[in-house]
Amino acid sequence: MYPLNLKQLQHHFGGELICSETESELEIKCLQIDSRQVQQGDLFVALKGERFDAHEFLAQVIEQGAGFLVVSQPQKTTVPQWLVENTRIALGQIAQLNRTLFTAPLIAITGNSGKTTVKEMLGSILSQQRNTLITQGNFNNDIGVPLTLLRLDPQHQAAAIELGANHLGEIAYTTALAQPDVGVLLNVTGAHLGEFGSIENIAQAKAELLSGLPEKACAVINADDSHCAYWLSCAGTRSVSLFTLETNMSHFWQSRNWPESVSQVLSAQQIQAQPSGCQFTLQSYDRGAIEPSLSAEIQLPALGLHNVANALAAAAAALSVGVTIAEIMAGLTAFSGIKGRLQQLSGLNGACLINDTYNANPGSVRAAIDTLSAISGKKILVLGDIGELGDAASSAHADLGRYAKDKGIDQLYTVGTLSQHASDHFGTGAQHLPDKVSLVEQLKRELSANCTVLVKGSRSAAMETIVEPLQLQN
Ligand code: ATP
Ligand code: MG
Repeated sequence: MYPLNLKQLQHHFGGELICSETESELEIKCLQIDSRQVQQGDLFVALKGERFDAHEFLAQVIEQGAGFLVVSQPQKTTVPQWLVENTRIALGQIAQLNRTLFTAPLIAITGNSGKTTVKEMLGSILSQQRNTLITQGNFNNDIGVPLTLLRLDPQHQAAAIELGANHLGEIAYTTALAQPDVGVLLNVTGAHLGEFGSIENIAQAKAELLSGLPEKACAVINADDSHCAYWLSCAGTRSVSLFTLETNMSHFWQSRNWPESVSQVLSAQQIQAQPSGCQFTLQSYDRGAIEPSLSAEIQLPALGLHNVANALAAAAAALSVGVTIAEIMAGLTAFSGIKGRLQQLSGLNGACLINDTYNANPGSVRAAIDTLSAISGKKILVLGDIGELGDAASSAHADLGRYAKDKGIDQLYTVGTLSQHASDHFGTGAQHLPDKVSLVEQLKRELSANCTVLVKGSRSAAMETIVEPLQLQN
């Protein structure tokens, strides 16, 4: 983090300091919210959750040498304290102040699917020439985003961060803290439908990124998502870059009355699926143009058309902060894929195994089915339950069973009560197994050199436990 002290925090955000003047001016070097991580001199923020109150660990934190405390109840200690009403809000305020000291480009990404992928692609692109900070893992909620912003320091020359949400208002909050120079809106694919109640609510939650962007920021929006028109209205007069898998640009410009704010569009031409990725020509078109102003051959080491869309989103964001097309090419070529997201592995008996078990929602399962259907040979889909779909759960699984059949998937294996609906609606070639052990035994018999097995399910289904025994061990 940047050099900050308690005096500055109180000056900007109020509250009460319980310490000497000299102590209030001491530099805070590191912030922790996990008592076990606290080291000599750290600032510890005592968060309160539904099931925990970190104030209970303050004795331990002080013993470990904490240099400063942020608390909502005053403590009997000589350690300097900033007493505030709500420590969670205080965490956000410290992060917000740290962010204002960072003057290089900050790109924020939201959407139901692909945030981590696009963040990693951007990390690969930006770090060609710049010391870049990206969100660690999946730290994308109202605690993870402040912690990410607090990692920004004077060494960083660019940042790409992920904003996630499981309730309305969360992205409005994290956007206000992050003050992005570019906001990327990927898609609505139905994640957390149960919590949000409707697809429209999800689209609205994601739109909070656009309405919360600073006026001079740029918005990058997926033109192929059915919510694009709504999102364009939320972006207001901010400059917009679109990305699309549409290849006919004259059709693209005429298909809608694009608002004046749209300044360019990125598309992918001549997409070729390859055994270990996709090749395509990335093109950027100025508003209304049918001839590209920029063009580059991209060799993307990631499977699936949706990853081409993800690459376009990353490229559009990078271009809008002045990154060169050469850096974009180099960054996308060097993208190394992410564990559990369409990760290709060698399976038993010469089969190809695709591990897509990190998570699932209806849209990302459809994207996985599309990817599998484009691969030659026998195509086997293994599906565990998709969680958090609320009342739509049974019908969504049934729809996916039908979708897989329509897309030419040869066999569907399911495990879990909800996934049975997918098997039931797939028809011939589907088999529902009572548990994972019998599923693995069945698959071991099934695997052969000519087949590709794609395994997917929600985090809660932990389908990676199926992948492991099917993998060829060296
Ligand atoms: P989370 O909300 O869990 O943080 P995320 O938005 O970060 O998810 P990723 O981790 O990049 O998304 O990918 C999650 C899953 O979605 C993977 O299984 C991946 O194959 C699929 N996916 C990635 N990008 C897209 C996309 N553009 N459209 C549909 N599915 C996608
Ligand atoms: Mg993620």
